[in-house]
Amino acid sequence: MKTLFHYKGKSREINYNVAFSTFDLFGLVKKEFCLDLDIEQYVFFSNKEIGFIPERQMGEFAKTDVSIVHIIKRDHYAFQKNFIDTIYSSIKFAAGTLPDIVFDLFDRLRTIRLYAKEANKTYSDTTLKSIIPNAIREAAPTIQEIPKIIQWFSSQLLRWNNDTSCHSCQEETRRLYPDRPTKNEYESGAVRVDRYVCLKCYACTRKPININIDYILKNKEGGNPQFCIVFAAILRLLGYGFRFVSNLSLDYCWLEIWDPINCIYIHVDPCQDAINAPLLYECGWGKGITWVCAVGEYECVDVTTKYTSNILSVLELRQNSLDETIFQQMVGLRNGMWSHSDSPNPIIDIIIQRQIDDLSNSVSCKRTPSKTEKNGMIRL
Ligand SMILES: [Zn+2]
Repeated sequence: MKTLFHYKGKSREINYNVAFSTFDLFGLVKKEFCLDLDIEQYVFFSNKEIGFIPERQMGEFAKTDVSIVHIIKRDHYAFQKNFIDTIYSSIKFAAGTLPDIVFDLFDRLRTIRLYAKEANKTYSDTTLKSIIPNAIREAAPTIQEIPKIIQWFSSQLLRWNNDTSCHSCQEETRRLYPDRPTKNEYESGAVRVDRYVCLKCYACTRKPININIDYILKNKEGGNPQFCIVFAAILRLLGYGFRFVSNLSLDYCWLEIWDPINCIYIHVDPCQDAINAPLLYECGWGKGITWVCAVGEYECVDVTTKYTSNILSVLELRQNSLDETIFQQMVGLRNGMWSHSDSPNPIIDIIIQRQIDDLSNSVSCKRTPSKTEKNGMIRL
C-alpha cells in the first residue's frame, strides 16, 4: 500500500510495510496502520485522525480544536517539537513512551462506554416495557425503589450464566487475553470475545460477548456486562440517571444511580444485588482497587476515592504501573471528548453539574466497610 505525503512543499511516496499498531489517545478513531520506518517520524496524533497530515489538509487541521498533541515515541519528540513550534505554535504537546497499560486502560474505557451507549439505545424499549411489572413501572423514580427493582430483576428476568468451562471436555479453564470478534461473531452482535484455555485438554474456548439487548432478553441469561446493560436500560426507562463504573484492571463493571435528593451517585451492582456498598470489591472480594472510572456516553470520571477505604495506598500502588499525571490526562481527555459529542447541550450541562455535586458530596477519607460490604459475595 502506498500513499503520497507532502511536507514543506516536498512530496514523497510512503510504503506501508512495517507493522505499527497503536490506539489513538483521543479516541475518535482507532486504526492499526503500517508505515515505512524512516517516515515514522511524521506520524502524529490529532483529535480528528491518526496518521499523516498532508500539507493540503494543514489548513483544515489548524481550524480544529486540537489543544494537545500526544506523541507516542520519545524518539520523535525533537522532530515533533520542531514541526509544531514552527507551524502550529499554539498547540501544546506531550512526549514520552507510554507504557502498555495506557492502551489496556483506554481499551477498557472504550468497552465500558460501549455498554453505556447500548443501555441508552431505545430499540428494545417496547419489549422492556412489556416485561416490567406495573408496580415497578408506575412508581416514582426514587432511590427507595431500587431494592424492589433489583429484587425483581435478579429473580425474574435473567439467569446468571458465567460458564467458563471447556467447550470440549467441560473441565476448568484459565482465562486468556480477550480477542476481537471474527466477522461472523461481530455480525451476530459480539463486541469482543473472551478466551479460555482448558487446564486438562488445552482446548481454547471462545466466548463472544454479545451486548445487544434484544439478544440478551431472548436468551434470558448473561454475565456481568449483560446484567448491567439490561438493568441500566430499565433504569433509563423508569426515569433514573445512571452511569457505568469499572475497576479498570478487572474485567468487571457495576452502576451508579443518580440520587436527586442527596445530589450524589449511589453504587448499585445488579450482579450482586448490592446497593450503596462501594467497598464491596475491596473488602468483600479482596480485589485490589486500582483505577476506578465512572463512564457514561458523555462522560469519564475518576471515582476511585469512592471505592476504597484507603485512597493513599491505592494511589501509591497505581503510581508503580503508571504515572498519575498520565492517568489523569487520559481521563480528562476522554471526559472532554465524550462530553463534546454531538449531543444536545442540556444533557451535558446536567451531567457536568452531577459530576460536580457528586464529587463534593462523596466521602474521600478513610472509611470502615459495613457488614454487607464485607460479605457481599453472591454470584462470583
Ligand atoms: Zn478441555
